[in-house]
Amino acid sequence: MAKAKTNVELCKGCYMCVSVCPKKAIRPVEKVNKKGYSTIAVDEDLCIGCGMCYKVCPDYVYTIE
Ligand code: SF4
Ligand code: SF4
Repeated sequence: MAKAKTNVELCKGCYMCVSVCPKKAIRPVEKVNKKGYSTIAVDEDLCIGCGMCYKVCPDYVYTIE
């Protein structure tokens, strides 16, 4: 099954992806990226590859592979 993959270095911590994920597979994390933003992490066990995160993210963090 396809899963959401992330490049968290592109993330700006807006958390729009967190609110749209139907499986609650995305959570905010404290870890800060090189741009200084708090980021997110995906629980691949919960992800169903629906692509909602990919559609909503303004910063191209997600690919569905
Ligand atoms: S929508 Fe994109 S930029 Fe916003 S928190 Fe999620 S991954 Fe980061
Ligand atoms: S692909 Fe769908 S289920 Fe997986 S993390 Fe993105 S929004 Fe959530």
